[in-house]
Amino acid sequence: MTSRSPILIVAGTRPNFIKVAPLLHALRQHGGLPFRLVHSGQHHDENLFDIFFRELHIPPPDEVLEPFQGSTMERFGRIMVEMERLIQGMSPRLVFVVGDVDTTLAAALAAVKCKVPLAHLEAGLRSGDRRMPEEVNRIMTDAVADHLLSTGTRATSHLLAEGQPRERIVEVGNIMIDTLHRMQGAIDRSIVLKQLGLPPRGYALLTLHRPGNVDEVGPLSRLMEATATLSRQLPVLFPVHPRTRKMLEHFGLWEQLQLLPGLRLCGPLGYLDFGRLVRDARLVLTDSGGVQEETTVYGIPCITLRDTTERPETVELGTSRLAADDTHRILELASQALAGDWPQGSIPPLWDGRTAERVVAWMEQLD
Ligand code: UDP
Repeated sequence: MTSRSPILIVAGTRPNFIKVAPLLHALRQHGGLPFRLVHSGQHHDENLFDIFFRELHIPPPDEVLEPFQGSTMERFGRIMVEMERLIQGMSPRLVFVVGDVDTTLAAALAAVKCKVPLAHLEAGLRSGDRRMPEEVNRIMTDAVADHLLSTGTRATSHLLAEGQPRERIVEVGNIMIDTLHRMQGAIDRSIVLKQLGLPPRGYALLTLHRPGNVDEVGPLSRLMEATATLSRQLPVLFPVHPRTRKMLEHFGLWEQLQLLPGLRLCGPLGYLDFGRLVRDARLVLTDSGGVQEETTVYGIPCITLRDTTERPETVELGTSRLAADDTHRILELASQALAGDWPQGSIPPLWDGRTAERVVAWMEQLD
């Protein structure tokens, strides 16, 4: 392995693609740091994969693992085995993983077992809730990473509290915001509101996909009850994640939702149209991590459908408030947002659109 060996960048899901896009762009501009992109195949359908490569100008992956429908455990095993094969063939100088999905942890473990240095971008985010599979992925990836690229001082303090040596930590910032900045012009040009007949500030936007919210009938029914009530006050647009759709159908809720005149259901949207819908919403309801950050940047009221968050700054700054699956609280917060009773918030440090630049500068000084 030499310093000319490539950096192996691994991505596998919608939020991963959004996070690696600005980094790949910065690496291409730099030109002197060889890299390869691996797509793990975790998300492989048009609405969660191809459209993001097209819209965010991500080069085609150098390696794509075959899509796989098995259990979580089988998927983990398969990604690890395939990553071992790739690592042995490429002898990368560094394996680079992002975020908190199963791909992140599986690729991280493969790197460590193959004795290749590992970097984790978005290190140190913690919700404190180990019932979330993503929290376990975050803790375990950080535990084995050689280089912890943290989002800011709070993430750094989590890592230090877990006993990580300071010299392993580099504060690089929030890469999701790089993508938002880079794509802002294209987001502004999206005509999705016209296409859907939605007036700016005249609708609510809902996203939902966390297992804790959608895999059991209790929370999912309470969330749908709040949605149904809210949809009588203003139109609610709900781009439904495939996992959520499957569970809504499974619990017999899908057909009832289709009968609600104020609720607009559609499939997952591309980044640009979705960004435009966030920018112009009156109110956003979500259990997504990235969407909590994007509403903070746009100053749009965000009701977070969780009882914890790994992005607490969004709550402290005031744009996001936690409501879990509590129907009453969701509707109470929605009334406040509709009455304009919501803080404007501000943007945290290192959400400046220059994270990819800092990551590349850090890569440059690696041996
Ligand atoms: N997003 C999108 N289309 C959608 C819903 C979300 O492009 O229909 C984007 C959103 O703008 C954010 C990212 O997907 O940048 C968040 O991904 P997700 O909610 O899947 O993951 P999380 O952020 O919770 O890890």
